[in-house]
Amino acid sequence: MTGYPCHAPEYASANPKLPIAMTNRTFTLPDTLYDYLCSISLHEPDLLRRLREETARDSMANMQISPEQGQFMSLLVRLMGARRSLEIGVYTGYSALSVAMALPNDGNLIACDISKDWTGTAMRYWREAGVEDKIDLRLGPALDTLDHLLEEGREGTFDFAFIDADKVNYWFCFNKVIKLLRSGGLIAVDNTLWGGNVINPNDESEETQAIRSFNRKLHNDERVNISLVPIGDGLTLALKRSE
Ligand code: SAH
Ligand code: CA
Repeated sequence: MTGYPCHAPEYASANPKLPIAMTNRTFTLPDTLYDYLCSISLHEPDLLRRLREETARDSMANMQISPEQGQFMSLLVRLMGARRSLEIGVYTGYSALSVAMALPNDGNLIACDISKDWTGTAMRYWREAGVEDKIDLRLGPALDTLDHLLEEGREGTFDFAFIDADKVNYWFCFNKVIKLLRSGGLIAVDNTLWGGNVINPNDESEETQAIRSFNRKLHNDERVNISLVPIGDGLTLALKRSE
């Protein structure tokens, strides 16, 4: 079996059920059951596996979504028949590649990041997968790129968006992305369980507070129907209602 990430996250001593940091695997299952889930459901293409293995050598590899989450997102994209998609936070390109491979030939993904270095790796794999023409990488602060898209008249034109960049900007980012989405479009927001730290009373870091506040605001947001799916590090799905 190809190496899916069956390593266990570190567990906080106070609560043995909570990993202490962001996790890149579904942590709400016992390890053995997680291994079973992966072994019986993953169809990770070879290229994605190679990208994951290369990324695993990077010290920030935990930021990458897990293969079961990549497969879930690609299923959502297929289910919706999404053509126009948006990604905020590319890193080495695993989530973007999962989505791009699920888009139809005339589909397109606008991918936003600030790192030339990490997205350089991403582009190598997108090229090898033959999806580089589908992906439009925009380097620069995501909030600026989203403003440019709004200025370009792209309001209401996107089917699917994945938000996974800096957590302190989640709410600002979400508010721009929702304008860019059509009614019935879907926004997936990553890391909303934040390795369990959303309920860790000792964690008052800026990022953790931003995620807690994002989750609370979204819960009261009448523009969307939501579901917080406990896959990976928590993936909140928000479907834009018609106005
Ligand atoms: N979705 C990726 C992981 C993203 S990690 C995957 O599954 O592999 C978060 C990324 O957000 C990093 O690559 C970082 O460079 C980027 N980022 C951080 N702040 C940003 C900002 N203000 N605008 C755009 N990208 C940002
Ligand atoms: Ca993430």
